[in-house]
Amino acid sequence: MLRRRWLLADQLGPHFLDDPAQPVLLVEIQELFRRRPMHRQKAHLILSAVRHRAAELGDRALLLRTDTFREALAQVAEPVEVSHPHSWAALRFARTVPGLTVLPARGFITSQADFAAWADRTRRGPLRMADHYRHVRRQHIVLTGPVNAAGQTRHPGAQGRAEPPPPIVEDDIDAQVRRDLDVWAADGVRFVGRDGPRQHPATHAEAQARLEHFLTHRLPEYGRYADVMSADDPLFAHSALSSSFNLGLLHPEPAVRAAEQAWRAGTAPRTAVEPFIRGLLGWREFLWQLYWYFEPRFRGADWLAATEPIPDWFADLDADAVEARCLADVLAAVRDRAWTHQTPRLLVLGNYALQRGWRPAEVADWFERCFVDGTDWVMNATVIGMSQYADLSRVDTRPYAVDGTDIDEISDYCGGCRYVPERALGDLACPYTGGFESFLHRNRERLVTDPRLAAELARRDEPEHREAVVAQEEKRGSTAP
Ligand code: SF4
Repeated sequence: MLRRRWLLADQLGPHFLDDPAQPVLLVEIQELFRRRPMHRQKAHLILSAVRHRAAELGDRALLLRTDTFREALAQVAEPVEVSHPHSWAALRFARTVPGLTVLPARGFITSQADFAAWADRTRRGPLRMADHYRHVRRQHIVLTGPVNAAGQTRHPGAQGRAEPPPPIVEDDIDAQVRRDLDVWAADGVRFVGRDGPRQHPATHAEAQARLEHFLTHRLPEYGRYADVMSADDPLFAHSALSSSFNLGLLHPEPAVRAAEQAWRAGTAPRTAVEPFIRGLLGWREFLWQLYWYFEPRFRGADWLAATEPIPDWFADLDADAVEARCLADVLAAVRDRAWTHQTPRLLVLGNYALQRGWRPAEVADWFERCFVDGTDWVMNATVIGMSQYADLSRVDTRPYAVDGTDIDEISDYCGGCRYVPERALGDLACPYTGGFESFLHRNRERLVTDPRLAAELARRDEPEHREAVVAQEEKRGSTAP
């Protein structure tokens, strides 16, 4: 007899089921949304995805709304199984439920056993994504072998502006989700950010259509625009499919193979395909495996001893309180869309938090709650380890600390800003440039081992200037720049 498969809210794609006849359990727990303020659009996406999956499965699905998962599981008489959950908290819980079978993890290309064997074999210090990526590419034979050389001169998509995907059409399920969230909000559940039309896929079919649109229309431009930030175009050539992968709507392997095929067929250049594949097969797999390889959790790590709390204007996504154009625009994007691509996350949001010495665990929690794709396993390594430079023993990284001139180089923000990116002192001083210098001086003993930052320190180390910048930035403190 087939056991009933419990699908968690991040296991919603077809690859989380084996048998078309298998009965399914889905569970909605309102309490999870009450515990800490989540972005309204993220809450909408999760509920919409769970309910759409239940609707797709029809009579096979049992959708329960209970106060706890234990309560839901107690209502199911037959044996239940679940794929390996995607967080330590959920895994620990699953292991305490009598009779619940925990299956191996799904939704990733690499296995935990293989990663552990690789890491144990190669580890002589912090693990490097590039080394693991090379290992996985060899193992899975990705971006190797012959290419359609004739086709490599044709890149029809690589001309002009990258085309955005068509908007998602909401349905009755979304309308009901919106009504329910309004009721919850009236009942005291606190959300951050603004409500708005659903912008991210809630079903496998929507996600697959988005992936295909991306492969045809934006992948060819991806290499050229991956790091660019613009007030006019928040998407550029990005796929914006991270929430679809993290909800389990898409499996990364077919996406990697399809991108590789675009290169082999000559419809996208290797300079675009390789960074896209590196994101999925390199970074995503590496972060997932790091999460399970290292126990206890990253969240307590704080190498730079950053102790300042996140200020309210940032926590509440109050972009209107901010004059710095880059930060106001990116914070508004989070408020209005619950998503930005990776560069604004690292260089505008994370960089600001790092410079100001905000507590890494709070910053990670903020990213997890405010972004549609935020998960525990992603944020531990990307925010705690990389962005906030707080765990050097496990992630090999450099501080993502830059000044206003670096932001100016890859964005169109500074031209319309009241601050001047080259200035570290005075009324027009860019908060990122003053903040960067103050960060260097405050952490000088810890940062001298990094060649780039040691050179920056030496270049900016005139005592009078140093004292003035540190005093100015201390005065700025946690007020919105
Ligand atoms: Fe941002 Fe500074 Fe440029 Fe203004 S001048 S947009 S604050 S980097």
